Amino acid sequence: MITIAEIQALASRPEHKENSVLTLYLNIDQSRQANLNRGFENELKDLLASARDKIQGSAELEAFEKAAGRVQEFVAGHSVRARGLAAFCDSADGFFWGEEMDFPVENRVRWGREASVQPLVAAIDEYERVGIVLLDRAKLRLFTMSLGQVEERIREDFDTRKVRHTKTVGMDHLASASRAQRKADGQVHMNLRHAVKDIDWLLGRHVTRRIVLAGLPEVTAELRGTLPKRLGSLVIGEIDVAVGATLDEISTAVAPVGDRFERETERSIVDNLVTSAAKSTRATIGLAHTLHALNQRRVWQLVYADGVHTSGYECVNCDALFSSEDSACALCGSPMSRVDDVVERAVDHAFRKGIGVEVIRDGEAESSLINAGGIGAFLRTRSARRAS
Ligand SMILES: [Zn+2]
Repeated sequence: MITIAEIQALASRPEHKENSVLTLYLNIDQSRQANLNRGFENELKDLLASARDKIQGSAELEAFEKAAGRVQEFVAGHSVRARGLAAFCDSADGFFWGEEMDFPVENRVRWGREASVQPLVAAIDEYERVGIVLLDRAKLRLFTMSLGQVEERIREDFDTRKVRHTKTVGMDHLASASRAQRKADGQVHMNLRHAVKDIDWLLGRHVTRRIVLAGLPEVTAELRGTLPKRLGSLVIGEIDVAVGATLDEISTAVAPVGDRFERETERSIVDNLVTSAAKSTRATIGLAHTLHALNQRRVWQLVYADGVHTSGYECVNCDALFSSEDSACALCGSPMSRVDDVVERAVDHAFRKGIGVEVIRDGEAESSLINAGGIGAFLRTRSARRAS
């Protein structure tokens, strides 16, 4: 399965002067009728054909065919397990990367000078990593859920005083701390205190900003009461599952909690964006203004409505983006080329520069953002801007 580190590595690959990179996102979800009996392979053929039609030079066509062949080979050799596939092939240097994904993806083929990572960036935002603490009187299990995938990180058994860590990286200090602690009795209280320590470790090691408490309601309520404020403020919900739950059961129970929290977050971000853009210089809204701020390196966080796609222009030299055509790039004077989806390009650029990206999918928040221009940004502070 795909990881955030891999997405960052893909995004940081060098950009070429000529088109040589083929990007594929393919929905292979077997709940879709069209995907049964490997129907997605036919869809892939169609996607490649429409990308091929736009290519003019014979050298470029040759580069495309090389990449297309490699990508088709990858898809053909893939057994259907996940919901989607992503593949990138660079015919300039022979680079190939392909992976399956456990989140829904829309079919897309891009042929360009660099990998198109926007759907992956959107997924990082949508499926933000959640830490899950599953506890009963005798057992503690800690998990992370990232990009639809649940992994068990710690499993502890309080009764038998046996501590088994499923992932041992960085766990030495905890193991010795727990051995010392086990000598004391006050079972439940100690277990809860121990759980707090483990949560701290999880947050530090796996960079989680959201926590879900799992287990019997009376146990999670007790744990919640024990958590220090800094941890309590990260709890986004509680679920009632058995301590022996499988990874699939945990994933099914946590997904709606994460989804609800993400929708709430989106509504407050859009409210804040619209208000700030109207009242201050901290934010801007609308395609032209947002692209301008991005070109000027003034964006701190990019916010866009999921359904917004619009064509635009990109400087062939400095990659500056524009909503309307001009004879030359306003920044460097080089020619501009047309791009099918300038919002997608903006997200790609923002991610590469380490700028935060927020995709708005909540119905209510999405329509108010679309009414305001569909895309906007929170900006760096004025003093930082003057200095740059
Ligand atoms: Zn330029």
